[in-house]
Amino acid sequence: MPDSAIPQNPPNAPARASTTWHILGAGSMGMLWATRLARADLPVTLILRNDDRLQAYKAVQKLTLIEGEDSQHWPISAQTPETDEPIQRLLVTCKAYDAEQAVKQIAGRLSPGAELILLQNGLGSQQAVAAQVPHARCIFASSTEGAYRDGDWRVVFAGRGHTWLGDPRHGPAPQWLEELQLSGIAHEWSPNILSRLWRKLALNSAINPLTVLHDCRNGGLQAHDAEVNTLCAELSALLEHCGQAEAAIDLATEAHRVIQATANNYSSMHQDVSQGRRTEISYLLGYACTAARNRQFAVPCLQGLHQRLSEHLRQRGLPCN
Ligand code: NAP
Repeated sequence: MPDSAIPQNPPNAPARASTTWHILGAGSMGMLWATRLARADLPVTLILRNDDRLQAYKAVQKLTLIEGEDSQHWPISAQTPETDEPIQRLLVTCKAYDAEQAVKQIAGRLSPGAELILLQNGLGSQQAVAAQVPHARCIFASSTEGAYRDGDWRVVFAGRGHTWLGDPRHGPAPQWLEELQLSGIAHEWSPNILSRLWRKLALNSAINPLTVLHDCRNGGLQAHDAEVNTLCAELSALLEHCGQAEAAIDLATEAHRVIQATANNYSSMHQDVSQGRRTEISYLLGYACTAARNRQFAVPCLQGLHQRLSEHLRQRGLPCN
């Protein structure tokens, strides 16, 4: 839909004035959320890395959302972290390794009672962010949606999915979930978001590193069943030891189901390595290994996998943290 055709007051617009959605990290997920929230006529502001990025955006002044054949442009406002404007609701869509530093830059702008929604994969970055902003409410999210950038300020919605949100301190579901509904963002409030994040982390740890080391699509792991089973057995034992027994149920069965269902896909970690990008290893396999070490729980296969993957990354000049 061209800019000129953007309806001013779409029929599904919320009746009351909404809090601005500040979005920190205008990458794939940040743009995917920003454009859908804007489409529902909700106020959205991007927080870009620095003035250079802001000037680059100002030359275009819109985000493009591509869904199949359709592409829509949304003129969304943007600012830098240094802007002097209070933030009540912040969606953090940086990579796990950037989240803590990025939030630190805007921590002074958070209003009393501010809420942060943390969309990072894996575990570890959310806790680091929460420790930075002890007076804010941090909501953790886990998403199976897929998106990628096919150019600056352009996002392709590549895979429909679902987003689970939850409060690790078990607070109530926030009112603004209705805004996700209006925006067509498929979601669910999860009473045990940590379990969900652990489960995803375990599946990621059993699949993604092996796809890098064997240089294959997910389906290529069908030839490495035994290796997947051994990793799943260790991960299940670790999850139980960490008080996450629910996340351990039938882990190997689920891993094989994912491998089969996504046989043609390259894992996100494989894509990162083949494109020379930093991976989120420290927040996935690395987090599992650290959790085991802190509890003096032996996970020799996971440790071995972590070492092999770290060496593989080092040889390619990529960070192994
Ligand atoms: P991405 O495309 O790399 O986007 C991250 C964005 O954060 C980049 O635009 C980057 O800015 C920005 N950023 C980094 N540091 C910043 C700072 N200090 N201030 C402002 N902006 C900053 O990453 P992504 O794919 O959206 O992934 C984000 C998270 O979502 C990851 O944890 C990922 O695992 C998870 N996730 C992604 C998908 C997916 O399909 N993409 C699906 C599920 C979960 P620059 O552009 O300036 O570098």
